[in-house]
Amino acid sequence: MRHYDNESVWDAVIIGAGIAGLTASIYLARAGQKVLLLEKGAHPGGRAASTELAGAQVNLGAHALNRSALPILREVGVHPAGAAPKLPGGLVFAGERGSINVSLLQLLLGSFLNVREKCQLLAFYRSLNKSDVSFLNRVSLQEHLETWVPSLHVRHIVLALVRLSTYCDAPDLISAGAVISQLKQSQVLYVNGGWQSVIHQLTWQSQQAGVTLLSGVSVQEVIGIRPQIQVNLKGGSQLISRNVISTAGPRSTLALLNPALTPAEEAPYRQLVPVYAACLDLVVTGMPRSRTTFVLGADAPWYFSNHSATALLSNHSEHQVVHVMKYLPVKGHSDPREDQHELTALLDNIQPGWTKHTVRQRFLPRMLVTHAMPTAAMGGLSGRPGPMVKRRPGIYVAGDWVGSEGMLAHVSLASAREAARMILASTDTKTEGEEEDGT
Ligand SMILES: Cc1cc2nc3c(=O)[nH]c(=O)nc-3n(C[C@H](O)[C@H](O)[C@H](O)COP(=O)(O)OP(=O)(O)OC[C@H]3O[C@@H](n4cnc5c(N)ncnc54)[C@H](O)[C@@H]3O)c2cc1C
Repeated sequence: MRHYDNESVWDAVIIGAGIAGLTASIYLARAGQKVLLLEKGAHPGGRAASTELAGAQVNLGAHALNRSALPILREVGVHPAGAAPKLPGGLVFAGERGSINVSLLQLLLGSFLNVREKCQLLAFYRSLNKSDVSFLNRVSLQEHLETWVPSLHVRHIVLALVRLSTYCDAPDLISAGAVISQLKQSQVLYVNGGWQSVIHQLTWQSQQAGVTLLSGVSVQEVIGIRPQIQVNLKGGSQLISRNVISTAGPRSTLALLNPALTPAEEAPYRQLVPVYAACLDLVVTGMPRSRTTFVLGADAPWYFSNHSATALLSNHSEHQVVHVMKYLPVKGHSDPREDQHELTALLDNIQPGWTKHTVRQRFLPRMLVTHAMPTAAMGGLSGRPGPMVKRRPGIYVAGDWVGSEGMLAHVSLASAREAARMILASTDTKTEGEEEDGT
């Protein structure tokens, strides 16, 4: 751990060295700010870190980098290498009559869907080309599909693709406008070397820019406002900073603030609905059905993808990384043992004999995918809180729950850039003590 200078005043202290914290630190430090980045974990990366398993880089559950995130990554000097996975080779219908596997080609050309259903599917896809979908922000996906996609089969197919691009399995809650915006930008990359390679590049750029990064340091309290914000660390140390960006989640951020926000001020943070997934990550020596590399559950929330069919993830020529996942329900209870059983049963179905090929496996029962599903009730993407904390000049937030641009890692990047720009703008235009922002 590098020692930090706790005598002087920092221009910005950033809480959390995931994608958002690292990105914000680069923008600020490149503009000449004195930046301290604090990470409570042992290493930077947060949820975007990968783990080395049997010599392979394995993400924390299936990760695909949306191409819409690339311009910001490039701006901070990060150039992920990788390739686009092929479209799902098949859909699995669990159904009452037992499981049926249908390829996409069969869906369009075979008799699984009747002519009317095929037309509905094509009409839904054509509707994605509408440029302005903001009128659907407050409409739930379920309501939208009930009107436009009467066939249950077709609705299942659409919902499988929605889960794939948003990780959300709550059509009654999620905003149809947000879903359509995300489906329009559905091109992704599987990143060579796992997302850890993005974290390595971000960390390197951050250090080149002069950021002081400390891991294993947990922030406990943030007191006051600009220009003299006191940051208390676990263990008793205190720091002073002009600005603070918290990339901890919404509830963790609220818990840090002293004095606390009022209930009315907290409401936009407390209304956010988190999304979780159960993840079975495998390192295998090939798979019994090697041509089956990507399968989605149609009427069940399952995902299977052999990421090594697309990206370079291991130096060991025979080892491949396979991600199997269940999108967890937002409401109600999920039982990790049942979830794991469902995922292994899916593997038994699509890759019979898979256990003989497995070198390592890891089950992550409840991974937080995003802090904020864009719900219809909050008006979709634009209903998320902005980077400024109201009536707390100098205190900002960033992460996958902040701001109106994009979803998942894209919004972490966009909100980090926005929070950094706001700090720089306030430094340029206001005299200390005159701050009115966020009110
Ligand atoms: C299974 C899974 C699949 C996903 N798939 C995709 C995908 O395909 N595409 C996509 O774009 N995104 C995906 N994501 C989401 C993506 O990983 C996250 O949106 C992104 O990594 C969030 O970055 P962040 O910096 O906002 O938050 P985090 O990564 O959560 O970083 C916050 C950091 O703050 C630290 N911290 C918290 N509190 C404190 C404190 N008090 N003091 C110091 N440090 C603190 C934490 O330790 C953490 O490192 C997926 C996530 C999961 C779990």
